[in-house]
Amino acid sequence: MIINYHTHTVRCGHASHAPDAAYVEAALETGIRELGFADHVPYPFEDVHFSGCRMRCAELPDYMASLTALKEEYKGRVDIHIGFEAEYYPDYFDKLLDMLAPWPCEYLILGQHFLNNEMGEPYNGGATDSVERLRLYGDQCKRAMATGRFSYFAHPDLLNFTGDETAYREVARDLCRAAKDFGMPLEFNLLGFIDRRPYPRRVFWEEVSAVGNEVILGWDAHSPNWMKQPEREAEARAYLSFLGLTPLDALALRDPLWDRK
Ligand SMILES: [Zn+2]
Ligand SMILES: [Zn+2]
Repeated sequence: MIINYHTHTVRCGHASHAPDAAYVEAALETGIRELGFADHVPYPFEDVHFSGCRMRCAELPDYMASLTALKEEYKGRVDIHIGFEAEYYPDYFDKLLDMLAPWPCEYLILGQHFLNNEMGEPYNGGATDSVERLRLYGDQCKRAMATGRFSYFAHPDLLNFTGDETAYREVARDLCRAAKDFGMPLEFNLLGFIDRRPYPRRVFWEEVSAVGNEVILGWDAHSPNWMKQPEREAEARAYLSFLGLTPLDALALRDPLWDRK
């Protein structure tokens, strides 16, 4: 794999304690030429809600300083990009962009881990047979893509819907079409694939294949060694190839802060 734009760090609270540089070294070892850090974004709702799955707003300066230094240190060997994996939370998204505006944030990937504004919501990876939640997930992700702030859509099939397959396919197809219209690559998530989580979900990827979306592989690395699994990567490529899909080997980054500089 020569690109990986889905790398976490210790700051999110559920990743390995390895220093940031260890991810860069692991990427170099495996032949990755473009390494994007996309840790779980700090959301500016800490005064009303404590989110246990992301870095604190107070950690933002350290994240930026560390990655900016690594970018310089490894120049010419691996291209490091600084970004975040972010949900689209309608009540807080503008505040998030304002908070990021002074920092050299190059990209965002969409990872919609919760519905609405997160507060009081169950994790989208948990099982649900609610068609209402399924449709809300589809609508919220489409609104997210419509902002034009995201460079790709991480684990688009995260919502673990256990109900009627026809209803699921309908929402999946609609989401894939919207992603295609917005020029948004869909991530085949290697964490879910290797861990045998409910995502990547076969029926979703059949819809991706039918719609003909751009596809990207993402390690979703929460430890440096995670990126060193070439056999599993080959299995993922074979899975996609069977569906007539070939992952991108380059990603065009969209500046999420284009109007705030
Ligand atoms: Zn994570
Ligand atoms: Zn995620």
